[in-house]
Amino acid sequence: MSFMPHEAISVFDIFKIGVGPSSSHTLGPWRAAQQFLSDIVDRGDLESVCSVRVLLYGSLAKTGIGHGTDIAVQLGLSGEDPVTFQLDLLHARMNDILVMKKILLHGRHEIDFDPKEDIEFFITESLPFHPNALTFLAEFQNGEQIAETYYSIGGGFVVKEGAANASHTSVQLPFPINTAEDILHWCRTTGLSIAEAVLENEGSWRKEADTKQGLLNIWCVMKESMYKGCHQEGNLPGGLNVRRRAAALNKKLLNGADYHDYESWISAIRNGGRDFRYILDWVSCFALAVNEENASFGRVVTAPTNGAAGVIPAVLQYFMVFNDGDTEEKIIHFLLTASEIGSLFKKGATISAAMGGCQAEIGVSSAMAAAGLTEASGGTQRQALMAAEIAMEHHLGMTCDPIGGLVQIPCIERNTMGAIKAITASQLALQSAPDYAKVSLDAVIQTMWDTAKDMNFKYKETSEGGLAVNIPLGLKEC
Ligand code: SF4
Repeated sequence: MSFMPHEAISVFDIFKIGVGPSSSHTLGPWRAAQQFLSDIVDRGDLESVCSVRVLLYGSLAKTGIGHGTDIAVQLGLSGEDPVTFQLDLLHARMNDILVMKKILLHGRHEIDFDPKEDIEFFITESLPFHPNALTFLAEFQNGEQIAETYYSIGGGFVVKEGAANASHTSVQLPFPINTAEDILHWCRTTGLSIAEAVLENEGSWRKEADTKQGLLNIWCVMKESMYKGCHQEGNLPGGLNVRRRAAALNKKLLNGADYHDYESWISAIRNGGRDFRYILDWVSCFALAVNEENASFGRVVTAPTNGAAGVIPAVLQYFMVFNDGDTEEKIIHFLLTASEIGSLFKKGATISAAMGGCQAEIGVSSAMAAAGLTEASGGTQRQALMAAEIAMEHHLGMTCDPIGGLVQIPCIERNTMGAIKAITASQLALQSAPDYAKVSLDAVIQTMWDTAKDMNFKYKETSEGGLAVNIPLGLKEC
């Protein structure tokens, strides 16, 4: 097992309530803008700011428009929070800034700001630390100028230049975990399940009851995104004219059954039986629903990223509706175990598509869901880790090549695949003896990282390779 230094990552760092379509290109830049402004507010200098400019580099510049990076930084500068911002105001707010050429910094100090001039996309430049970089420049009435650079390192995590170790918190956890082997060590010596060990660690940040309630809130947002996505028709924004499919599939599968809210919807789904293809269709429907919401600037849970936000809700909903997962205790268990797998990948490899391609997004979410489903279904800790290993093993090398820089094709369908692979991986692990496994989770994490480093930049969220260049779909102005 490995020892310190140890990066302490909470379950609420992995599962964050955010706004689509991208955790690295939307949520991260939004948080960076909030941090930049909050430093100025803390200095007491907000009212003396006379201009702000934003420079986007690398992947943020190349696919920033499709991923809403420009929108996110404007909302962050306006003092809005992604958890609470009223999303139906988004287009009106953007239009106001565009037409008036003014922005209300932190909701209280108005300056001139023309998004077309003051947000610059440096598509041929990258900063060395990470492909997702952005710099904020501010000028004050006394002539002082400041420039702060932030890196959006995946999953909504943000690092400020000069504080690259900010994500290494000083919290001392009872069970420090850097590798899957560490998890097994603590589980063996304490007799705890993975979820129980994680819950103990979360106690370093807050009371157990608050952790449990926070996880139920996360599940609530996941359920809302599924329900909403299953009842929205039409085309997705962005110009590709991708038709939303979840609502039509929902209607077809329910075959006229009556329901009026989330609970009666779940009863109606259960009443349809347990035929294999019926369940398969529902798993796809749940995943499509979340990611169609994500692609429409809807509210979703980053799990561990936005592009892959549908995998975990779809698998947990499958567990809840079609298996015996319909208790708060099991939902909490699932999420705690899944989050620790996400942390392992963040520490040992990456959860950023700009660093590792889609294996880092859909692959990681599938591994997380597989482990959560396995342990919450009664599997052992070793079976849960085995399930995560199997799920990632069959995502290795998967590239990121979103058409038009939008998180739509292949992203939305890819969540259905990640969910089904997670269920298959879990089932395989539950039917297997981990003693005979040849590949450990730690080995597959290392392999994913090696593969990420070897992957051509064209397949790392740049939309310069793969489907993004081989599908002749012209983007209209959006
Ligand atoms: S291809 Fe995968 S990694 Fe890339 S944007 Fe889509 S979901 Fe994210």
